[in-house]
Amino acid sequence: MINLSMQEVFPTISRSIAIPYQLRVLFTENAFDVANPLFRNLVCTQESGSRRKVIFYVDQAVAAADPHLEAAIAAYFHKHREDLNLKGIHLLPGGEAIKNETEFLKDIYGHMESQKICRHSYIVAIGGGALLDTVGFAAATAHRGIRHIRFPTTTLGQGDAGVGVKNGFNFHGKKNFVGTFAPPFAVVNDFAFLDTLPEKHLRNGFIEGVKVALIRDQEFFEWTEKQADALAVFDKQAVRSLVHRSAELHVNHIATSGDPFEMGSVRPLDFGHWAAHKLEQLSDFRVSHGEAVAIGIAIDTLYSQAMGYLDQPSVDRILELLRKLGFALYDPELERRNSEGHLAVLDGIEEFREHLGGILTITLLRKIGQRFEVHEMNTEVIQKCIEDLKSR
Ligand code: NAD
Repeated sequence: MINLSMQEVFPTISRSIAIPYQLRVLFTENAFDVANPLFRNLVCTQESGSRRKVIFYVDQAVAAADPHLEAAIAAYFHKHREDLNLKGIHLLPGGEAIKNETEFLKDIYGHMESQKICRHSYIVAIGGGALLDTVGFAAATAHRGIRHIRFPTTTLGQGDAGVGVKNGFNFHGKKNFVGTFAPPFAVVNDFAFLDTLPEKHLRNGFIEGVKVALIRDQEFFEWTEKQADALAVFDKQAVRSLVHRSAELHVNHIATSGDPFEMGSVRPLDFGHWAAHKLEQLSDFRVSHGEAVAIGIAIDTLYSQAMGYLDQPSVDRILELLRKLGFALYDPELERRNSEGHLAVLDGIEEFREHLGGILTITLLRKIGQRFEVHEMNTEVIQKCIEDLKSR
């Protein structure tokens, strides 16, 4: 009798699967003006044989700010009726509320079912990062993934949240507890949507630009310093340039970091985010994502200096830029205590690690434009940084 091991009889089968994703971010103005061919050309690719089914989800605030939007979409589809088949325009609340309520997800799945939306159809989301995250999650999970086109309507969405490969939904009181990595079919940054965005939200997008400059691009940081006065008054050209470069750096990072689906523990795009996510949650989302990230960046900048990695002039420049752009660098929620009497924001460190899995990995700065990672944080030093921010 021949004594062969299992491995010899049943050798391991192992093949690599390469999926060539193309992450496209297109820039335009008034995409649903009948004279603008961008959307039709995007959807009607060569393989399109029949009329493409398209279903829209629009942020209620966007629809309210532009009462002609729904009619413009309908007119656009009417003009291109030989190629495009409009299967509905649904309004959904924007802001964090949509990421907390499963009823909205159920509604979206319901429309997809009743309208016979398939993997060759398109789901278009027009709205802030929160609506994009929710609709993106539904699109990625219904039928195991439907083509999804994002129209971010905030600066934060156009420069960061909307141009990446993630979606997310809050669950069990935790931000983005469920979600997938699913590159969208395309992202369309339509600058006209920014015209109706309240100033607070226009400003929020600046912070993700500053963040990506701090971790990757000193030149962009210096550009932002020079443009700070123009940005502070929301000069259109300055805002558009910041959004474009921020989107480009985010996409570059995803495309070149070697870890687009974040399987490892290093998350540089989340610089300043451990405190930010916790602060948003502690304030019951009164403090918006952008506002919280500004404070989180201020904490981790001071921490980088306190631990001897970053020099004082760099810290001064960073905090000065954040201030010039109009960000508050302190919020009373930072003083909130947990049931054990410790600063509740510090729980954000462990929650950040849990969300990532693996060992704790926090991005810090060595220089403006140059990041590195640490695997532990000294909570006493963090507390001193928070006190420092309070006293400034
Ligand atoms: P948001 O989606 O909360 O929108 C802000 C507010 O502005 C909402 O009330 C919305 O209804 C309104 N609004 C949006 N566009 C408007 C317009 N053009 N005119 C008038 N009002 C408008 O905020 P956000 O900053 O865009 O996104 C924040 C969300 O993005 C958070 O949930 C965050 O977790 C998520 N995010 C996701 C990623 C990712 O990679 N998926 C990355 C960063 C952030």
